[in-house]
Amino acid sequence: MVELQGIPVSPGVAIGPALVLDGDGYRIPRTFISASDAAEEYARLREAVDHVSKRLEANRLETAKVAGEDTGDIFAAQLQMLHDPRLHAELGRRIRDENQSASYAVNRVLHNYAAAMRRIGNPMLADRAEDVLDIEKQLLLELGAVTRQQLTDLSEPVVVLSHNLTPSETANLDRRYVRGFCTEIGGPGGHTAIVAKGLELPAVVGIGSFLDTVGESDQVIVDGDRGRVIFNPDPETLASYQQRIEQRLSLNARLAELRDLPAETADGTRILLGANIEFPHETTACLERGADGIGLYRTEFLYLASSEEPSEEDHYQAYSQVVREMNGRPVVIRTLDLGADKMGKRPLAEQEHNPFLGLRSIRLSLRNLDLFRPQLRAILRAAVHGDIRVMFPLITTIGELRQARMLLNVVAEDLHDAGVPFRADIPVGMMVEVPAAVVMLEHFVREVDFLSIGTNDLAQYTLAVDRSNEYVADLYQSSDPSVLRLIARCVEVATESETPLAVCGEMSSNPGRALLLIGLGVRNLSVPPLAISRVKKAIRSVSIDQCREIAERAMTLEAARDVDMYLLDRIGAFAPELVVD
Ligand code: PEP
Ligand code: MG
Repeated sequence: MVELQGIPVSPGVAIGPALVLDGDGYRIPRTFISASDAAEEYARLREAVDHVSKRLEANRLETAKVAGEDTGDIFAAQLQMLHDPRLHAELGRRIRDENQSASYAVNRVLHNYAAAMRRIGNPMLADRAEDVLDIEKQLLLELGAVTRQQLTDLSEPVVVLSHNLTPSETANLDRRYVRGFCTEIGGPGGHTAIVAKGLELPAVVGIGSFLDTVGESDQVIVDGDRGRVIFNPDPETLASYQQRIEQRLSLNARLAELRDLPAETADGTRILLGANIEFPHETTACLERGADGIGLYRTEFLYLASSEEPSEEDHYQAYSQVVREMNGRPVVIRTLDLGADKMGKRPLAEQEHNPFLGLRSIRLSLRNLDLFRPQLRAILRAAVHGDIRVMFPLITTIGELRQARMLLNVVAEDLHDAGVPFRADIPVGMMVEVPAAVVMLEHFVREVDFLSIGTNDLAQYTLAVDRSNEYVADLYQSSDPSVLRLIARCVEVATESETPLAVCGEMSSNPGRALLLIGLGVRNLSVPPLAISRVKKAIRSVSIDQCREIAERAMTLEAARDVDMYLLDRIGAFAPELVVD
């Protein structure tokens, strides 16, 4: 049994056989052969080398003909590597002496070569490393290794172990078979984590390098509550985790009874408890758990979950479905928040050095009107079917807000002129997720109908901590006193100006932090569907005065850690069943 610690990003426990992917998305074929099969396995490798060699030679001739000898030489260098006697000696040794399968040996040896080349730090050698990995891929394909593509073609339950998973790869995981996942890199606030919660897949990220130590089909436990990953558990550990799964199911069944009860404090203050969704199908989970509406619909996942760019009609169908299914409850559609860690198939920006500070979100939408306009048209069209509100993300300057609003008006005029049914009088809001917007909030509130605080980004930009970076995960805390002060200021400005205010960042899905927000004066929270019953339970366990006391005390503390310890203590007192041991 091996136990590793990572960052818990999506709660719950998953148990299942490992499906291991390496850094390039190839399944690592960590398999062994019997000693008597070694000669045959080596012959299989020689045959694969022959095929790849022929292909490279053909590529070399073709490229030389079209682009000149120099360009063709790229393949000559790869051919030289492929036939390197030291490479073959090492592959042969692994197959014969260590009984590794040919594909496992190829994967390990060529990855080690590439890593050594990259470590030297010479750009020419770094390029060579890519060539080595290209040879590896070709050999693995010849040897029958499986690519990431086939993650959608699973037929049995698995736990995915990978170097990394992007938000769109996570969105495309086959939920019928993938029980959970863990990755070597990744931070607590990245969108991969958010998608995992949306899909209700237990997940642990930022574990550090571990893929070499685990084999295909090894049994894995993913403890998404505590950030633990256990390989080949002993029977006792396995039994204790199976028991945790049972306990969780019974707690969920008890919490499910709250579905039709309002999210109100014990003394009757009503809190609006909405849900954050990434996909239209999540409305089912929202209704099952009694959400008061959709507080945040992350529409960029329409791009990320599909290989084709969505058309206006695709947007329209998705929004209409969501608003119809929510049956009169409000649906806040956030316009595209692409960029940074969320990039679709079509590259919308050049590679950036600091993508979270770059052409992201509303900035990207305003510069890609062929992307933005169809979305705005679809929102206004879908609004005829129910209570749709639109919200712009990452607003930093008043100019951006005005530009976005202006475009919305232009689009409305176009629809009017074309005689297409639509509604123009929908509420228009902005996300408050950049400190600059908090500082200037008195100006923004004059030009919006509502505000929604995005604590995920607000924490990232206030604390100067990349939300998806495991190395600074301990610094990424929405309960940091500096973030709390910014939120308190938002509440103040919103109250004075009578602007409705919600909090839709992940902060509100933590029961203790949710009570703190309520104590600060927030009356509208939006959380992932899987958190609704827990947050509702916490709200129903306290009075509004107790929330105020929590907020007052928290505001005297100096560090996020102190705030969280205090909140844990309070939740332990008010709703002990919500505390994960
Ligand atoms: C946020 O930043 O808090 C937020 C809700 O938006 P996202 O997590 O999609 O960036
Ligand atoms: Mg955000």
